[in-house]
Amino acid sequence: MSYENLHGRGAPPPDYHASLAPVSEPEVAAQEDGVRPNTYEAQRCPVCGRAGAQEWLQAPDRLHGRHEQYTLVRCPVCSLVWLSHPPRPEEMHLHYTGAYHQLISAGGQNSPHRWRDRKATLTQYKQSGALLDLGCSSGSFLEFMRSESWELYGLEMSAEAARAAEARSGAQVYAGDILDACFPREYFDVITCFDVLEHLYEPRQVMARVTEWLKPGGIFYVLVPNVDSAEARVFGSYWHGLELPRHLFHYSPASLKFLAESAGLQAVSLETRRNFAVGTSLRYVWDDACRAVGIRRTPAAYQAEACLSWRAARKLTRMTVLRSLRVLAPLVGGGESIHAVFRKELSRPEVGPA
Ligand SMILES: [Zn+2]
Repeated sequence: MSYENLHGRGAPPPDYHASLAPVSEPEVAAQEDGVRPNTYEAQRCPVCGRAGAQEWLQAPDRLHGRHEQYTLVRCPVCSLVWLSHPPRPEEMHLHYTGAYHQLISAGGQNSPHRWRDRKATLTQYKQSGALLDLGCSSGSFLEFMRSESWELYGLEMSAEAARAAEARSGAQVYAGDILDACFPREYFDVITCFDVLEHLYEPRQVMARVTEWLKPGGIFYVLVPNVDSAEARVFGSYWHGLELPRHLFHYSPASLKFLAESAGLQAVSLETRRNFAVGTSLRYVWDDACRAVGIRRTPAAYQAEACLSWRAARKLTRMTVLRSLRVLAPLVGGGESIHAVFRKELSRPEVGPA
């Protein structure tokens, strides 16, 4: 197994940015008619290819307390939401700060129940074999899966995290981009991808690679935030799952299924789960409320310990808003995370001449 060209993919194929560029002519015509223009309708959906995208919402990078506004648009056909005019790949490192990486890494270390749940889901379908974790970070999940039953592999953009993952899990961990990886065809029984797909520029190509690397009958277990969840609907631009501009695509169960099936995978299980990790969304609302009355707060990415005023506000919110939300959530949308298991079909037996 070889894996070369470990760093930097350069610009994405020209069709990606071309498909996201707004058009100017309809805008001019609509303004003359006094109608609010939809400058995005000529954009083709990166998953289903249909035109007619609509502006969905605008929001800044609230995690870092930055002010630049980003626009998300939604496909009216498959319901995919994507970031219009994303930062170019060579600029994206500016949005992945040291503070961000620390938060992600700490989240992985402190959540053994998370890995237990995912292992339980996975082992309903496969109990042994070759397993590849895409975007394995510092290897917490691989470490949890360590046993004689599994031959473990990881792939991680950060070379430093890849080395850490290899040291702690005993897996073979490669550093680099998914589309540069050269794994053999039909090698893996299981490929996992947790909270990673939404960060990737080329989801269709990634899904095609996953299909290529899976054995017939192999399983792809993917987890992404649910843009149709109750919390996304309630919090709108304050929903922490937006993670702008690091999340380039925002999936619903329908758009994720469409993407996987278009790559030749079959949905085995497609469920949403509630985790009520709304603390961050509430915090963003509180940050804006404070800013409106002239109080500047340290952005979430840089503040490890919650300050006293926020702790008091959070407690009050838990007692009021959250209680209501728990009752109302099932009525207004699904859970916050999509846990999807897809299977590559078993090869059909060749039919010879009669
Ligand atoms: Zn679409």
